[in-house]
Amino acid sequence: MKAAQISKAGGDWELVDREIPVPNEGQVRVKVEACGICHSDVLVKEGAWPGLQYPRVPGHEIAGRIDAVGDNVIGWSAGKRVGIGWHGGHCFVCAQCRRGDFAMCVNRKVTGIDFDGGYAEYVVVPALALASIPDEVPAEEAGPFMCAGLTVFNALRNSGARGGDVVAVHGIGGLGHLGVQYARRMGFETIAINRGNDKQDLAHELGAHQYIDATATDVVAELQKRGGAKVILATAPNAQAISGLVDGLAPGGVLLVPAAPSEPLTISVFSLIMKRSSVAGWYSGTAKDSQDTLEFSALSDVHPMIEKYPLDEVAEAYERMLSGKARFRVVLTVGA
Ligand SMILES: [Zn+2]
Ligand SMILES: [Zn+2]
Repeated sequence: MKAAQISKAGGDWELVDREIPVPNEGQVRVKVEACGICHSDVLVKEGAWPGLQYPRVPGHEIAGRIDAVGDNVIGWSAGKRVGIGWHGGHCFVCAQCRRGDFAMCVNRKVTGIDFDGGYAEYVVVPALALASIPDEVPAEEAGPFMCAGLTVFNALRNSGARGGDVVAVHGIGGLGHLGVQYARRMGFETIAINRGNDKQDLAHELGAHQYIDATATDVVAELQKRGGAKVILATAPNAQAISGLVDGLAPGGVLLVPAAPSEPLTISVFSLIMKRSSVAGWYSGTAKDSQDTLEFSALSDVHPMIEKYPLDEVAEAYERMLSGKARFRVVLTVGA
């Protein structure tokens, strides 16, 4: 099979021929149809993940079809359309697993980091990492739902915001363009915040009730005109901009940060205390959360905006993702 691998930290993309892998007990083999390129794939490319073993095939936004099933796999069969995301396994025996909080497993595995991912024609994964793809979701859209979509969907639905609450999405990019769609369809008063006005019309098309241009408007004052935001989903990885949003929260509100800026945040704890507000991270989700993301997206007509590249053009596709200019997720199409 054809695969795109990295063989050392900071190495170049290598297109290689490999043996088609065989699923062991509890695993399935998936014939890959599409795999999104996530900014986290930088961890593999540049060797920023402790203990990562090379060579490694990255890719944790996988969509394809089960092609072979190992022993003792229950509920999955060849031919089934499936997606695989960041969450690549859990141990079932640690304290978090015993509580059923598999995403927080201390021995959790990450697809495309702990084992080879989807920049390849085939991938072998644990059956517990599988999400079922609804018929109406094409593979190239299912891919980005498996990390970008899941992360913002799961962050918002667990944020404590209720129907009618003000939810602001900061940054209209790979995560944010999905965040706006989910926030609107979950029944929130949805405010999109971005720099400049070139994404204003798009934000409204995606479902935003209001658009705030952060270069022309005092974002905090604008949010406070609505009583403050119950949730601000900060998707632009800019520490200074994110830090400034905290005063835009409503009492009890939360500034949710699902993607890490490289610099630390600088936040006045005084403003957190006075509003009993908080700042929180969000970590991905399990395979069932991914399946919920896919099903909600199909049900309520949420779509990622994508740019497609064939697997052979992985280097160009990766550079396009890194440039920040893609609208909005880059997806490798495989074996089409
Ligand atoms: Zn990702
Ligand atoms: Zn565990």
